[in-house]
Amino acid sequence: QPKIRIGIAGYGNLGRGVEMAVAQSPDMELVGVFTRRDPASVSLLSAQVPVYPQADISQFQDRIDVLILCGGSKDDLPVQGPAMAALFNTVDSFDTHATIPEYYAALDEAAKPAGKTALLSVGWDPGLFSLNRLYGEAILPVGETYTFWGKGLSQGHSDAVRRVPGVKAGVQYTIPAEPAIERVRSGELPQLTTREKHRRECYVVLAEGAEASEVEQAIVSMPHYFADYDTAVHFISEEELRRDHAAMPHGGVVIRSGTSGAGTTQVVEYTLKLGSNPEFTAAVLVAYARATWRLNQQGVVGAQTVLDVAPGLLSPKSPAELRKELL
Ligand code: NDP
Repeated sequence: QPKIRIGIAGYGNLGRGVEMAVAQSPDMELVGVFTRRDPASVSLLSAQVPVYPQADISQFQDRIDVLILCGGSKDDLPVQGPAMAALFNTVDSFDTHATIPEYYAALDEAAKPAGKTALLSVGWDPGLFSLNRLYGEAILPVGETYTFWGKGLSQGHSDAVRRVPGVKAGVQYTIPAEPAIERVRSGELPQLTTREKHRRECYVVLAEGAEASEVEQAIVSMPHYFADYDTAVHFISEEELRRDHAAMPHGGVVIRSGTSGAGTTQVVEYTLKLGSNPEFTAAVLVAYARATWRLNQQGVVGAQTVLDVAPGLLSPKSPAELRKELL
């Protein structure tokens, strides 16, 4: 069985995570990393893997089976996703929930005529959490689904903070309200507003000459990301950022609380406790890259999401092995 040939587009936290996850996958090989920066300025974990200018990527169409897109959701993927999906089978972790339908449409339009498969919004949320929301709703149609995130550093929101003019560096933590989680676990079915479930905390290093109040206003009023939450913005030094905010833990919980039969309470919970958000998200992307390649070989082209992919396609094991070992 030939190995699945993987490319990485964009080398940040996620790109590094994908490099490590491919190294743990015996059925895959990493062809190269494609960056918009000067390749000489990007140093990989493995000296054996070459770095190429992303501008040259179209020359690699017959050397890459699946391209894993590791750009940011806010500004990179809306441009890179459709451009790459016209050339390669792609997987990405696009996580701006509100604009997934239009991103899906743009990918579908690019991938379908090219005979490529574009699997979008893979990771843990969207991704594994989406699957668990689906299972909950489908199996317990009478009930409510609750998703709580954190406490953790959100890459998507940190990315959004860093792109605000006047921000030199920064991170964002999502903090769940424990009393709200306990009410849900008890089977109470509370009505919770966005603001009651989580708050957000940003730690920001100001760029020289930037006005703190303007930066704070730009962050707390940002639609989709911060406008619907209580958001605190703390201004700190670069030294404090390095010392106190270098790790990237995250996690969360999806709870479906409902009633079956004659009103019997059923509560289903799926929890993630992640030491490294980007390493875990990358590992999910790599498993779904395997599925993407198989879907493409089966002739399933165009945009796809985790809700469309059969779980067995994620595993390097054969369906017969899976039936024997995991059923
Ligand atoms: P980074 O900011 O680390 O990287 C994004 C891009 O920025 C890279 O692809 C890279 O592109 C460029 N870049 C990286 N480092 C540098 C640098 N030092 N100087 C200049 N440019 C740089 O983002 P993450 O990898 O942390 O996250 C990517 C996205 O993943 C997030 O926006 C988020 O939306 C998504 N995500 C999704 C999750 C999910 O569950 N669905 C979970 C976690 C994250 P290039 O090499 O071309 O310059």
